[in-house]
Order: sequence, then C-alpha cells, then structure tokens
Amino acid sequence: MKKDVTIAGAGLVGSLLSIYLARRGYTVNIFERRPDMRKEAISAGRSINLALSDRGLLALEKVGLADAIRTISIPMHGRFIHNVDGSTAFQPYGKQGQYINSVSRGTLNARLMDLAEKQGVKIHFNSKLESIDWDSMTTYYGMPDDQMQSITSSLFFGADGAFSAARLEHQLKHDKFNYQQYYIDCGYKELTIPPAEGGGFAMEKNALHIWPRKDYMLIALPNIDHTFTCTLFFPFDGEKSFAKLDTTEKVDQFFKENFADVIPLMPELNEEFFRNPTSSLVTVKCYPWIRGDRFSLIGDAAHAIVPFFGQGMNCGFEDCRILDELIDQYNEDWSQILENFQQIRKPDADAIADLAIGNFTEMRERTADPQFLLQKKIEAYLHEKYPDEWIPAYSQVTFSPHIRYSEALRRGLQQEAIMAELMTMPYVDTIYHTSEIEHWILSKLKDRH
Ligand SMILES: Cc1cc2nc3c(=O)[nH]c(=O)nc-3n(C[C@H](O)[C@H](O)[C@H](O)COP(=O)(O)OP(=O)(O)OC[C@H]3O[C@@H](n4cnc5c(N)ncnc54)[C@H](O)[C@@H]3O)c2cc1C
Repeated sequence: MKKDVTIAGAGLVGSLLSIYLARRGYTVNIFERRPDMRKEAISAGRSINLALSDRGLLALEKVGLADAIRTISIPMHGRFIHNVDGSTAFQPYGKQGQYINSVSRGTLNARLMDLAEKQGVKIHFNSKLESIDWDSMTTYYGMPDDQMQSITSSLFFGADGAFSAARLEHQLKHDKFNYQQYYIDCGYKELTIPPAEGGGFAMEKNALHIWPRKDYMLIALPNIDHTFTCTLFFPFDGEKSFAKLDTTEKVDQFFKENFADVIPLMPELNEEFFRNPTSSLVTVKCYPWIRGDRFSLIGDAAHAIVPFFGQGMNCGFEDCRILDELIDQYNEDWSQILENFQQIRKPDADAIADLAIGNFTEMRERTADPQFLLQKKIEAYLHEKYPDEWIPAYSQVTFSPHIRYSEALRRGLQQEAIMAELMTMPYVDTIYHTSEIEHWILSKLKDRH
C-alpha cells in the first residue's frame, strides 16, 4: 500500500516534491500558510527572482518542466562587473554555451503548483502548520478566523522553509537534536531598474550584474518584463550600513559615491529604499532530518543557506530528485529511503552552506581584484586543456550536477591551495601555460587524491 503523504509548505520545494510523489501514485495533500499566489497579489517570498542552474534544471527535467521554465528564463552567461570608477568588465561563468538562468520566483512557484494540481495534489491554502502529534502522525493547521484543521497521514514532509515550524516541532520533541543557526552581519534590500526609454533593457540583459565594493555589493538580475531586480547586500550596522542611511539625502549621497552609474537607471531609488524591507540572511544546519519511515525535513527547512552561490533552491530541487531515485532503489521501503536520503544529503547540504558563505567574499571583494582575474584566466585555461582533471569550483557547483556538493567543496579547496601557491610564483602570468608548470599542477592534483 502506498503511504498517504502530507507536506507543509507549497513553496518551490514542497510543490516540486508533491509532483514527484503524485506521479508515483501517492495521494498528496499540501498545507500552505499563505493564500494562493495565483489568485491574490502577494509577494512570492524571499527574493523576486532567482538564478536557476543545472542542478535545479535536472530536477525539473525529470518531471517534464525544464523546457517550459527555460522559456520564461533569461540566460546569464557571466558576471558583468561595474567598478567604482565607472569602468566595466565581463567575466564568463564557464565555457562557451554555459549559463545560469534568471527566473521569477512567483512564476516558477505558480507553474509548479499548477502541475502539482494537474497530477491530483490537493493544496490547502491559508493553513499554517501549528503542531504535530508524533504518535498518531496528525498535523494541525491554524486557519483564518481562529479555525483549525488537522490531517493524519503515514508520511509527512516539512518543506516550510528556513523558519520551519515542522523543524521546530521535530526539535522540541527529539532527544539529541543538533541545531545551528548563523546570521551574517549583512542584510539585503531589493530595488528596481525599470525598462529604458523605448521599453528595452537598461543594461546588458544576458548577465548577472555586480557592483563589488569590498564590504558590500549591489547585484542585478534581469526579468522578462525588461526590468532588473537589484539587491543591495549591506551591513546592518557600522560606518557604512543600513542603520546610517536614514534620510533620502544620505541615500542619494551614498549611491553617488558608490554606485554612480546606477542612479540614472533607478528613478524610484529613494521611494523603494524606504518602502522595501531590509531582510536578514541565515544559515541553518540541523540533524537529524528524519524520524523512521514517516517524517523528513526537506529544502530550506533542512538546510537554509545564504544566496551567494545561487544554490538554495537548486539544492532543494536536487533533494527531490535524489529522494525520487532512492524510492526506486529501495522499492518504496521508506525507512531505508529516508535514512539514505539524510545520509547522502546532509554532507552535501553542509558543503553548499559553507561554499555559499565563501562566495560572498568572492563576489563583493575578489571580482574587482586583478590577481583574482588572472587566477580565473589560469583556471579557465586549465579547465579547457584538462577538462576532467581541473574543474573550477564554480563550474562544479553550477554546471556539474553529477558532482556532489561535498565533492565540489573538497576538490575546490584542493585547487584553491594549488592556485595560492602558483600565484606567488614570479612571472606567473607568463609561465602558467609552460609544460613545466602544467606538470607541476597535475602532479599536485594527483598527490592530494
Ligand atoms: C535574497 C535571496 C536570494 C536567493 N537567490 C537564490 C538563487 O538565485 N538561486 C537559488 O537556487 N536559491 C536562491 N535563494 C534561496 C531560495 O530562495 C530557497 O532556497 C528556496 O526558496 C527554498 O525553497 P523552499 O520551498 O524550501 O522554502 P520556501 O521557498 O521558503 O517555501 C516555504 C513555503 O512554506 C510556507 N510556510 C512557511 N511556514 C509555514 C507553516 N508553518 N505552515 C505551512 N506553510 C508554511 C511558506 O509560505 C512558503 O510557501 C535565495 C534566497 C534569498 C533569501
């Protein structure tokens, strides 16, 4: 007998998970705290648009959605750097033809919900998970007007995001539950660049724009309506911080000094700056994710990460794909499926959490550094010449779904150490492609395997 499944959260991951399960013949109910975003104008959640890369696409491909989502995405082939002196530079993300995709969170979530319902999934909106009775596997949901509803099911997933109620219930009633939560000292605020006069994009559309300024940065991703959603990642407190930018004059002055080329593109800078929220960024690591054959956390509820590798959703989508493969492998034996799911995914989720923190420094600080650019050039050369031996860390994470995140972290650290040594060599810019140096690099790689 197939288990009947309940999922808390119809966000990106809960909706995709429901599709995977419904396709296998499971009866699936989702309970979602918010109203139906397809009928009411509500914010889709944490950011307006997202970078979708190969891991996420592979998971969508398995349910036949990748092509449809590609048509509503904008390819971003690399980073478009805006320096403080007004100069710009383009840094490709990978080889020719490799790119990430800018996609609207709301549209993607709505498409996933549509497909879930088509597969027979029932989504209950305005239903906020409040508590779980672990003995009977009954979950309770608060509804408008103080109403409650409950459901009993044999398998329950907590896909209710970074501040998961399912995780809290699990934690409170679990012996030896490990939990770690870490807020970075920067928050973020979203701003908009509208279309240019005439209706086109105001900047290069096929790129992720970055204004790296060491302790902070502004980024911009294109939308299909020809706008860009910009995100300012900026300290909460200190000399240059959200706390200090408390008048329109100070905001104007700060942008003039640091992002002068953006000012003419953002006619509503001040209105948006004071209207839009300043939000925080958290990493959550916890363990265990599961209870026997009847419960698991998944997506951000299990592993929230900061957005600097553009992988949170991609990682959550990969969770769904791996879980689906395990259902085949363990022939619907859910105690085996869930145990193996957490054994495989926990180290990978921890690895991408650490990689994402590290990429903040790379994006805000190193993308403007000539040494870093030289290092990237050398890495691209090595990757071209030795595609299996040397894969830049960014490419492993973003374009190589067959490489686990934990493996990408391990190999990335190894390559970084080799690069650090190489970059101290005199005249490295002229000798890096000599056979002597290449031989040295390859032997270092072998040493560390
Ligand atoms: C600024 C920013 C930028 C990002 N950019 C990227 C990116 O470029 N690429 C990328 O891959 N990832 C990105 N991410 C990460 C990505 O947003 C998350 O990893 C992704 O949304 C996780 O999906 P989820 O379904 O697990 O959680 P969520 O998307 O948070 O969905 C959780 C759902 O559960 C519902 N819910 C919450 N509590 C309850 C409750 N008690 N009962 C019932 N329902 C509940 C919520 O309403 C929501 O619908 C970014 C994150 C941020 C903050």
